Amino acid sequence: MQLRLISSVSRVRLEATIRSLAAIPTRHTLSGARGADAAVAWLERELKSYGGNLQVAQQRWVQPAGGRMTKAQELGNALAMLPGTDTPERVIVVSGHYDSRVTDVLDATSPAPGANDDASGVAVVLECARLMAGLKPRCTVIFAAVTGEEQSLLGSAQLAKSLKEQGKQVVAMATYDIVGNSVSQEGKRDDKHIRVFSTAEELGESPTLATRRKSLGTDGDSPARTLARAIADSARRQVKGISVSLTLRNDRYGRGGDHSSFLAAGYPASVRFTEPGEDWRHQHQDLRVEKGTKYGDLPEFVDYAYLTRVTQVALAWLSELADAPSAPTRATLKQDLSNATTLMWSAVAGAASYEVLWRRTTEPDWSGQKVFPNTQAILPLSKDDYLFAVRAISQNGARGLPMVVGR
Ligand SMILES: [Zn+2]
Repeated sequence: MQLRLISSVSRVRLEATIRSLAAIPTRHTLSGARGADAAVAWLERELKSYGGNLQVAQQRWVQPAGGRMTKAQELGNALAMLPGTDTPERVIVVSGHYDSRVTDVLDATSPAPGANDDASGVAVVLECARLMAGLKPRCTVIFAAVTGEEQSLLGSAQLAKSLKEQGKQVVAMATYDIVGNSVSQEGKRDDKHIRVFSTAEELGESPTLATRRKSLGTDGDSPARTLARAIADSARRQVKGISVSLTLRNDRYGRGGDHSSFLAAGYPASVRFTEPGEDWRHQHQDLRVEKGTKYGDLPEFVDYAYLTRVTQVALAWLSELADAPSAPTRATLKQDLSNATTLMWSAVAGAASYEVLWRRTTEPDWSGQKVFPNTQAILPLSKDDYLFAVRAISQNGARGLPMVVGR
């Protein structure tokens, strides 16, 4: 079923979404009725047209003046929710930001097509929503086109806050931001990778967790990194022609994105996707030609074949995690004087089997795995030298998020 979904990603639709958004003169957060409001209304209509089980609505609020908001302004996020059937309180959020900007971040009137930053991410989110609309996943999925990213992550902060207030458990969050260009500013072409950024940090770590982390050396196994590795693995098994590169830091140097709003709200499994080589002549630039070079974030600079593969990766991990059982709540190892390792974990509803993952302490990603029928495993690997995790597998083979031993 998933392979059929993945092969259904439409390059034509991705391009149409980007061109529709870029045709609005500006989507700057402060641009009001003829800009951002027109964009969010278009996004809401588009999401509603997908039908199926999607529940589509705008989240609206008045953002007070301050910082990069020169005046108070009513803003809106376009949201489509696919309700979970088994565990609706578990939520996966996938987002892109529809607001755009030019050189001056406060310029709300100059043409700002924002094709790559970030109509590309919004196009990924919309295409996933369209193709998943008819599904009934185990957990809830929220497809979000948010605003105010360029004015300091305002829309994502509003969304994270409202989910927190509703007591939702966001088990995975990913923002797609600048994901459609395959040629770097230096002219290097890479259309075979997509980077995922993940932080080691975890706000509000409990003293118990800190003790376990120090004892077992799971410092590189934050929920964000566990999610990033699960995404890379899902893509490896399901998508051809592109792979996920792990970048083990929160974001690109000195820069930010909407996943940080979720991290700050206490949702630690939050990551960011960005293309491998950026071209800053085509981001945040006033439209102009200088010494024969065209500046501006225009639809002509997006590689739609590359964006199609990026969307296939999104659909792969999103549809797999949404349909998979929860992570085991606890995974432990037996503290015995043996060079083998005995692992035990809590049973998960809906699990047909479990998979143990391992890697050496020096490795960035899991390098071994084995399936077990019950909630215990003995492996001929030294607990001193390896890190371990366990994930549940559903009847149809969907792998859930791993629980790392010692987390
Ligand atoms: Zn952006």
